Formats: sequence, structure tokens, C-alpha cells
Amino acid sequence: MRHFDVLVAGAGPAGSQAARVIAEKGFSVALLEKRQEVGSPVRCAEGVSEKWLLKHTGVEEPWIEAEVRGALLRAPDGTKAVMHYSEKGYILDRARFDRDLAWKAADCGAFLLTRAAVTKVLPYEEFFIVRTDHPLHQEIRATLLILADGIESRLAAQLGVRTTLAPSDIEMCLQYTLEGAPHEEGMIEMAGGNEIAPGGYAWIFPKGGNRANVGLGLLGSRSRAGFNARFYLDRFVAGRFPDASVIRTVAGAVSASEPLEEVCGEGFMIAGDAARLANPLTGAGIGNALESGALAGETAVQALKAGKRDRDSLEPYKQKLMRSIGNTSKKFYRIKEPFVKFTDEDINNMIRIVSKIDPSRVTVAGILEAAFKENKAVLALIRKAFFS
Ligand SMILES: Cc1cc2nc3c(=O)[nH]c(=O)nc-3n(C[C@H](O)[C@H](O)[C@H](O)COP(=O)(O)OP(=O)(O)OC[C@H]3O[C@@H](n4cnc5c(N)ncnc54)[C@H](O)[C@@H]3O)c2cc1C
Repeated sequence: MRHFDVLVAGAGPAGSQAARVIAEKGFSVALLEKRQEVGSPVRCAEGVSEKWLLKHTGVEEPWIEAEVRGALLRAPDGTKAVMHYSEKGYILDRARFDRDLAWKAADCGAFLLTRAAVTKVLPYEEFFIVRTDHPLHQEIRATLLILADGIESRLAAQLGVRTTLAPSDIEMCLQYTLEGAPHEEGMIEMAGGNEIAPGGYAWIFPKGGNRANVGLGLLGSRSRAGFNARFYLDRFVAGRFPDASVIRTVAGAVSASEPLEEVCGEGFMIAGDAARLANPLTGAGIGNALESGALAGETAVQALKAGKRDRDSLEPYKQKLMRSIGNTSKKFYRIKEPFVKFTDEDINNMIRIVSKIDPSRVTVAGILEAAFKENKAVLALIRKAFFS
């Protein structure tokens, strides 16, 4: 049986980033992916802020399908507001991006194995035995584990971590990539309303030319028989892009919850969507996956250098994660609760207020302030979260 310093389960952005950081420092790492090809099929609208790429991967031209400089916010009554981003954003070729990140980890020395689902993690005193469904590598031994197995993560639960998501903490998403969907170049669009996407929003993300990712997410607790994501998306697309053709369909879920309380334990860490790190208001998770993967990788390296694997030695991962993204995510979560209860009139009012602000001065905090101007408790929370 092969033994690795670290085994990473899942070759999404979180897992590949962790594996690369560890391999670069000369430790042995296995990166196991259940799918036959890393990155495919895509389950993402592919939008990411440049800051995360600059911090973790650099920006490579083949990954970029469109540049984004702002967002158009559309209310149920048609009122529009424009927000200019202070940082550039990109719409990625996510399949290529994910594949390249995994291959870069392999270039640094990681043992990348596809069609290798981790089925069981068995903790022993000094290591884990990991079972897989790969015919040639059915058991692998590893000193440390990084669980980066995404939203459907089942592995952390095997180690006693509570990962269940309530229906009110999960967005059910469906997206079509459309050909023949004219939209404003360089802008993403987000449309809210209870007849559009109850408890969520619809998006239009440019993919170059007249191609766009058009999708929506609705809260699991608001999905009903016959009124599911497909019903709402088909209606949205028929209204906005009646002449477009669907060239790709993407279905998936995004957590709209707080980060897991327990992101590390004896010999293991949990990263990315598996740790419920997507932003609970927007669903954005690529940047947080990269950040958490890098932090988990760095913590693993420190622990291995010290010859340790106990919970206390991995605790710095949790502390750094909370400082970097976790605490902000918790604040967004508290705001999410009242936000998803908004009536269409509330959303119309919010967008109307935002539409009067100079687009270069519109910020997420400003939008939230407009949303909760009548709700003093939430307003105080927003001010504390963003301005203190
Ligand atoms: C419809 C939709 C649109 C989205 N749009 C955006 C967006 O525009 N911008 C954004 O930032 N985020 C978006 N997200 C969220 C984003 O896709 C995730 O947050 C991000 O992929 C998280 O990365 P990850 O590495 O944690 O998990 P993943 O990318 O999900 O990677 C997990 C990997 O683990 C593998 N795996 C699972 N179980 C096992 C196992 N047992 N053994 C081995 N491998 C396993 C999976 O096959 C997968 O490759 C969207 C999500 C959805 C569903």
C-alpha cells in the first residue's frame, strides 16, 4: 500500500490548490478525483474576481472567456441599477481552469489520480487508511487528509463532522449556456424577485459574443413540485432570450450557510464547498475554495515539518480561515436570513435607491444599506460588518 504525507480528496479549485502548495514544499501528496476528467462537467457560472486569481494562480489567457467590470441589478418592476466594480472580474472557462490547476499540482509532484472516488476514510493513531473505487489503488495510507470533495461532501461526516444542510441553507441552481443571447458586454446581470427566483436570483454572465451563462438559484425551502429551478429558468429564458439556443445545461447546488464550525480535527482539514465556504448571499465559491485550499496546504506543511498531526497542530488552519473569509461569511449569513424574506416591493425599493447612486460608488455594503434602511437591527449589523 502506498503511503503519502497528505491525501487530498477532490480535485476542484480547493483540492488542487492544496495539493500544489504541499507538493511545492517537497512533501508527498495524492490528489484523488472521482470524475474521469478534472473539471468536467462544469457546475458553475464561472465568475471570479481577479483578486483571487492574482493571489493564488495568476491570470492565464486561455482561462478567460470574458472580462467583467460591473453588474447590472434588475428589480421585478424593471428598475435597473448599475454597479461598477473596483476590481476586475472574469468569466472563466472553468473546465480548463480546473484541469490546469490539477495538472499544475501534478507538475509540482502531486500524484493525481482520476476515476478514484474516495469511499471510506479510516482513522488510525498515526495515519488514515483511505479506500477508493480505483481498481489499482483500492487502499492508500496518508498521514494527513484534506477533504475538498465539494458541496455533496460525504467524507467529513465519516469523521464525525456534522455537515447536513437545511433546505433553507441551500440554493438549488440550474443554468443554460445560451447561444444567441445578446447582453451588455463587460457586465454581469442579476435579477431578483419572487416570481423570478424565490429566495435567490437569476444571473446573466457573458461568455464572449452573444454567448452567456443564464441561470438561477432558488432556496431549497422555496422549491415546490412543479415550481422548481427548471420552471423558473425556462420562464426567465423564454421572456428574455426567446430566440436563443441552449448549448449546455448545468445543474447543481450551492450552500447558503455559515462555514462549518469544525473545519479541522485529528489529522484532517476540510476545504472549499465541503466546508460550506461559498458566500451565503451570492453563492460565489471559487475564490474561497482557492483561499481555503492554500491555507489547508500551508498548515499541512507546517504540521509535517513539526512532525505533528494532532488537532491542535491543525487549529491554525481554522484561525486563519476565519480571519480571511470565515468571519465575513458568517456576517453575510446573518444578513441572508432577512434578505430572502424580501417582497418584490422591497426589492423594487432597494434597486430604486441604488439606481440613484453614482455607479462607481455603489458597493455591496451600500446595496445592503439600501435594502435594510427600515430595519435598524440589520442596518447596525451591516455597518459593523463592513465599516468597523
Ligand atoms: C450552478 C452554479 C453556479 C455557480 N457559479 C459560481 C460563480 O459564478 N462563481 C463562483 O465563485 N462560484 C460559483 N459557484 C460555486 C463554485 O462552483 C464552488 O464554490 C466551487 O467549485 C468550490 O470549489 P471546491 O474545490 O470546493 O469544490 P468543487 O469544485 O465542487 O470540487 C470538488 C471535487 O471533488 C470531487 N469529489 C467529490 N467527492 C469525491 C470523492 N469521494 N472522492 C474523490 N473526489 C470527489 C468532485 O468530483 C469535484 O471535482 C457555482 C455553483 C453552481 C452549482
